[in-house]
Amino acid sequence: MRDDLIAQLLPPVEHDVAHWEARYPARSLPEGAQVTRFAPSPTGFVHIGGVYTAMISQSVAHGSGGTYFVRIEDTDRAREVADAVEQFDRAFAYFGIESDEALGQVPWGPYRQSDRAQIYLTYVRELLRSGRAYPCFCTTDDLAEIRAEQDAAKAGTGYHGQWARCRALTDDAVEGRLGAGLSAVIRFAAPDDPGARAVFTDAIRGEIEQQDNVNDVVVLKSGEHRMPTYHFAHAVDDHLMGVNLVIRGEEWISSVPVHLQLFAALGFDAPTYAHVAPLMKLDGSSKRKLSKRKDPEASVDYFIEKGYPAAAVRHYLAGLANSNLAELDAAEAAEIPIALDRCSVSGALVDLAKLDDIAADVVAEMDLDDIVAAVDIWADEFDVDLAAAARSEPDRLRSAFAIGRGTDRQRKDVGRWSQVRLVFGFLLDAVFAPVTDPADERFGGVDPDVVRALAADFADAFVAEPDPTLWFEQVKALAGRHRFALNKAQLKDDPDAYVGLLKDAAQVVRVLLAGSTRSPELDAIAAILGPDEVRRRLRAVI
Ligand code: GLU
Repeated sequence: MRDDLIAQLLPPVEHDVAHWEARYPARSLPEGAQVTRFAPSPTGFVHIGGVYTAMISQSVAHGSGGTYFVRIEDTDRAREVADAVEQFDRAFAYFGIESDEALGQVPWGPYRQSDRAQIYLTYVRELLRSGRAYPCFCTTDDLAEIRAEQDAAKAGTGYHGQWARCRALTDDAVEGRLGAGLSAVIRFAAPDDPGARAVFTDAIRGEIEQQDNVNDVVVLKSGEHRMPTYHFAHAVDDHLMGVNLVIRGEEWISSVPVHLQLFAALGFDAPTYAHVAPLMKLDGSSKRKLSKRKDPEASVDYFIEKGYPAAAVRHYLAGLANSNLAELDAAEAAEIPIALDRCSVSGALVDLAKLDDIAADVVAEMDLDDIVAAVDIWADEFDVDLAAAARSEPDRLRSAFAIGRGTDRQRKDVGRWSQVRLVFGFLLDAVFAPVTDPADERFGGVDPDVVRALAADFADAFVAEPDPTLWFEQVKALAGRHRFALNKAQLKDDPDAYVGLLKDAAQVVRVLLAGSTRSPELDAIAAILGPDEVRRRLRAVI
């Protein structure tokens, strides 16, 4: 196409292709280093499948001594969702999948496609000049008409071959239309060979052969912003930004043929592709893709709101990608890069119960100060009363998580910070609601007068006793004083002599101290609460 026509067709550019090629030199990285990117579009919030793909991209890049970065693909202005980029940042920070390349530090940016408009225009001009692209003036009505004709002729849909009306326009015809004020998109002039096959080797799936592309896809949209389409921006950006391995969702497999054509037409080396299988969900007895609409756990915010430690989610996702990693503990697995050739090609099933187990193991291994800090950050956003209570008694939660650490008494009931209130909240005086009613059903039917008497006696006789055996002896003595049988045999021998069993008495004490029939060991609880608080809780029911 003539330069004067191109000048009428497109906004001016300041530079030529040579400028951009020089501006983005080849990266100097060790042999075999992979440069990967995660490229979300702010047309919605990033979901857990996005975190999964980003994490694989990051892990593969780092494992090879390469680089991983994030590029915001915001060329679809009409479908952009407000705050999506803020949500991305929050999700990336939470899961530790932020870009390695900070803006301004390295020359590969800008990292938002809307800031790269001049670059796309420069390359589109080049395609127009060489005849590998052309303006298309077809309106939506024209396209609908073409579609109807194709249906009638039982021909393949799309803008191709004889149906590609604007492909044959001469420069003069284009000039005439521009003179009449018509606007045009720019289409790629695809090779028109319906029999051709496209073959490529996917790093996850091996060789893939499919029908080659014959569609003259749009590369540059019309309108004021003259934004590129995803296909074109992908080729230009991944070339200039030095990406040699494109890891993305499997929904893009069918676009590979057109992408390879675009790389070739632009004179670029194509990257290696790896198409990740989607995360799945068991729905009844069948597997389906995790759905943003139907499944709350598809949203990244679900995991943040529940307070799953990022390390747990990462470990879980890494195990879905490479099942051998699931067998290791989180810290070990985090050291091992994800291997693309071990990724499954059928979608991995997300099982939240399994994640909970992993999360509890991760919390069990976490440093106590890190736990307290993480709970503080989580509660500050999602449970401010808990945050305030924990801050006013800073050692209580720390001690709670320390119960039985490293021994077989270590409990694993917390895997996410939203469980802290339920499991350990009772240790915080401001959260705990003392049990005041002796007929409370949590006492398991023990006579209210006995409950009162037991509580009063224990409040007076209680000796702070760190040794679990001696604690048990105290409770046993207490139970004996109030006529609880030591065991079933004793009770059976003389039912009238007893009001219940030792375990019933222990339950009364437990409910008074912990507000629940289930809790960590009472001696540990008493040690954390301290004698004054133990007495206060016992006396609440008197
Ligand atoms: N912007 C595309 C998307 O959000 C990215 C696909 C890719 O990674 O190339 O699906």
